[in-house]
Amino acid sequence: MRFTQLFAPTLRDAPSEAELISHKLLLRGGFIRPLASGVYSYLPLGVRVLNKISDILRDEMNGIGGTEFLMPSLLPRTLLEESGRDRTDVLFTVPERDYFLGFTHEEVITSIARSDIQSYKQLPFLPYQIQTKFRNEARPRGGLVRVREFLMLDAYSFDRDEPSCELAYSHVRGAFARMFVRCGLSAFPVEADSGAIGGSQSEEFMVLSDDGEDTVLRCDKTGYAANAERCEAVPMPAEDPEASVPAIEQVATPDVSTIEDVAAFLDVPATRLIKTLIVTAPGGTPVVALVRGDRELNEAKLAKLLGGPSPLADAALVEKVTGAPVGFAGPVSLKLPVRVIADREVALVRDGVTGANVADAHLVHVLPGRDFPQPEYFDLRTAVAGDVSPADPEGRLSTERGIEVGHVFNFGTKYSASMGATFTDETGKSQLMQGGSYGVGVSRTMAAAIEHHHDAAGMLWPISIAPFEVVVVLVDAKNDAQREAAESLHTSLLAAGIDVLLDDRDERPGVKFKDADLIGFPVKVVVGKSLLEGTVEVSLRRDSSSKEAVAVADMAAHVDGLVKGLKAELSF
Ligand code: ATP
Ligand code: MG
Repeated sequence: MRFTQLFAPTLRDAPSEAELISHKLLLRGGFIRPLASGVYSYLPLGVRVLNKISDILRDEMNGIGGTEFLMPSLLPRTLLEESGRDRTDVLFTVPERDYFLGFTHEEVITSIARSDIQSYKQLPFLPYQIQTKFRNEARPRGGLVRVREFLMLDAYSFDRDEPSCELAYSHVRGAFARMFVRCGLSAFPVEADSGAIGGSQSEEFMVLSDDGEDTVLRCDKTGYAANAERCEAVPMPAEDPEASVPAIEQVATPDVSTIEDVAAFLDVPATRLIKTLIVTAPGGTPVVALVRGDRELNEAKLAKLLGGPSPLADAALVEKVTGAPVGFAGPVSLKLPVRVIADREVALVRDGVTGANVADAHLVHVLPGRDFPQPEYFDLRTAVAGDVSPADPEGRLSTERGIEVGHVFNFGTKYSASMGATFTDETGKSQLMQGGSYGVGVSRTMAAAIEHHHDAAGMLWPISIAPFEVVVVLVDAKNDAQREAAESLHTSLLAAGIDVLLDDRDERPGVKFKDADLIGFPVKVVVGKSLLEGTVEVSLRRDSSSKEAVAVADMAAHVDGLVKGLKAELSF
């Protein structure tokens, strides 16, 4: 391939709205161009990377018995009604036709399985596809990290029973782990919330990055790691459990309503405050949720408990439930007989402080169980660094930021039950299929790879997913000897099966060198003045000290050796 035919418009500076390094470099390198918020075109360099990641995914999926499909992007509303996912918040609708744009394809593949699979003999079944997904993300960000239209590998497993479903899950998990290694990414699985897809067993593959949107908690004693949405929060008592508690008392707290202000005003630590949040459960029912003042209520845990997203109630509902304006709610003497749930740590609060359900007043010396009925206790807070690890009482948790690049779910009979996907076993009995679903963000993986592999000059692609493995820089396009040598190297490398780009542009050498570093070709061959001494200059992008003069006669074999060596680092 020649640069003059490629279409790779590089930019000196990234547009100011780009924050993540991958976003900046993909724009500057001419890999992508924005069309609308969270919507991008892939230019040829970008397409080449997507294709390489996709090929590795195909290879790994085929290796575990996967079989490739291509399902439609238009999903009829009636299909999603079967599983109840027609109200999922990220759905794009095509109203005049009553379609949704495909965001994931459990319903489509389940509809195929239920009509075409009758017997246990047709199981296991492991279909996958690599296809564009649409999600109406509220806040697209970071270039390809969170977009409204993206490329995903989605795979689905159908099995006859739980053990074989678990086996399929572990096969796909292994295939994903190998695929990330082959792409040059250190991604590791963490326990995850199963979100809109539902189900029981779920792990996400995370790539650590300070700019990641996910928080990962890791135990320092065991290999346990979990997404903060999911990580069990072990109660950490802050008070002496034996301390005696004086009688409850109401105190005036004029205009003092936030946790920080109340703690400061009453001179008590936030650990003694009982934060009282009125949330709206699915269906509109108010529920009172209690967490310690220094803790955060975990939305994912709350949603799981209440059966769906449960946002904070509006001021009118808060007033109806508590009889007081927002900021003075507490579990003592609520106005409505509502369900009260609490994080387990609240049970350990002694001599607590809560809102009095009266404007400008709080209650002090509050004791759960004495001053208000024991609520229903659950794990409802978000775990934080320093917490005791749920995996080992001796272990402590630390936090890191991560980008989720893949997700594996075992959801059992969730879709087969709602959609009626059954098969007949050996005894002639009808059984529900056991299922799982698995996804890798192909475009997000591309961005994550850059987040990991870049320097001040540009991208540093792992060779397996680089848009080209080698660039041959023809320094002076008007110099016949240089052109001839560069052309001949280009031809021999192509013949050796190497993915090579010949930079044949009539540009200043400085421009070509800058672009080579920006685009990040793993191997660079410079055909320039040294040709007079019978050599070309070969170097690795990742190591500027690797530069060496190679005799023209040896150059093709030498480059071939370098490429093979780099590839071997990323293979099994
Ligand atoms: P997130 O929590 O980041 O919104 P998700 O958990 O909703 O993602 P899944 O349904 O698990 O996403 O999708 C599988 C994979 O698809 C994710 O692991 C991620 O790599 C990718 N992905 C999901 N949403 C997006 C998006 N908006 N833009 C780019 N890639 C995405
Ligand atoms: Mg996910």
